[in-house]
Amino acid sequence: MRAVVYRGVGVVEVAEVSEPEIEDPRDAIVRVGVSSICGSDLHFLNGKTPLEPGETIGHEAVGVVERVGPDVARFAPGDRVVVSFVIACGGCWFCRIGQTALCEDFRNLGAGIFGGGLAGAQAELVRVPSADTNLLSVPDGAPDERAMFVGDVLTTGYYAAARGEIRPGETVAVVGAGPVGFSCVQGALARGADRVIAIDLEPERLALVAAAGADAVNASERNPHTAVAERTGGRGADVVIEAVGSAPAFGRALEVVRRGGRVVVTGVYASETVEAQLGVWWARGIDVRFTGVCPVHAWWERTMAELEAGRLDPSPLVSHRLPLDEAPLGYELFGSRRATKVLLIP
Ligand code: NAD
Ligand code: ZN
Ligand code: ZN
Repeated sequence: MRAVVYRGVGVVEVAEVSEPEIEDPRDAIVRVGVSSICGSDLHFLNGKTPLEPGETIGHEAVGVVERVGPDVARFAPGDRVVVSFVIACGGCWFCRIGQTALCEDFRNLGAGIFGGGLAGAQAELVRVPSADTNLLSVPDGAPDERAMFVGDVLTTGYYAAARGEIRPGETVAVVGAGPVGFSCVQGALARGADRVIAIDLEPERLALVAAAGADAVNASERNPHTAVAERTGGRGADVVIEAVGSAPAFGRALEVVRRGGRVVVTGVYASETVEAQLGVWWARGIDVRFTGVCPVHAWWERTMAELEAGRLDPSPLVSHRLPLDEAPLGYELFGSRRATKVLLIP
């Protein structure tokens, strides 16, 4: 079958690889209908998180169950499903309390050795371990192109907003208006934020979040600190969601939060370091919360229901639909921010 293969920093290729097999009785094999490229894939592409040349990539997919192992109880061939980007065991202590991203056997599709060596979802077929935990049925009212987002960015954004514990009347700032930032904007509004200010540098991405109801601030034209202060009586935002995953973005989040406010860090970090002036953080009483990887399973039924009800709608994000074979072009477009979300259709 065809799959996207990582060849080295900056290079992916579509190549023939062997088809996945049922390796464990709880596995399912899913025929991918739509997969996509995520900001997290760019971390691999850019060498921030390691992948070995020859490994396959991708973790966002929706499709139809092709085969199941004998211990899969909830799914059968023919079921339309979305795949969780977090592969959890479903049975350990962390999984049982809903913290599935802290699972004792935490894995990620298409994330190389640190993801447990599972093959990627930017492929014709993908093996999903512990299928009863890591697949969610897609209702008829949710087309593939929208449902796919429930397995990762839409749920991540909704979860980040939930972690912000937004109260009615509060102002939320979202740093970064990529697909995750966009989902944070929708999540914050769905969870009752009075006003959401979104900060980015890309006019097209800002236009998308503005259409979703955010007050868009272009950080290359305006000082975000001043822009947020002007909109909050000089105080700063009650809640800031960092949806970039870089030290400057983290710094920006701390700049625009009010004294006593909450900062929710959703962007992915690896080996970055920042210098923290603890006295300043302490005196300002800033509450910094790291989401870590989103515990998709505890939240995805809610986001699927919000999607079906039309309160969350990721479809404006889709800028490109490409055949899987054109994945390298998709990476180029997404990596250079000429695309907001590239769907790959096997
Ligand atoms: P993306 O790269 O498409 O978007 C990032 C956006 O941030 C871009 O639009 C960019 O212009 C903007 N940006 C960069 N530096 C900025 C700055 N200093 N201030 C303001 N804006 C800035 O990525 P994405 O797909 O939207 O993902 C965003 C982050 O979320 C990534 O780090 C990704 O790995 C992470 N992520 C985390 C989880 C999780 O479970 N916690 C899940 C999915 C993605
Ligand atoms: Zn992703
Ligand atoms: Zn577990």
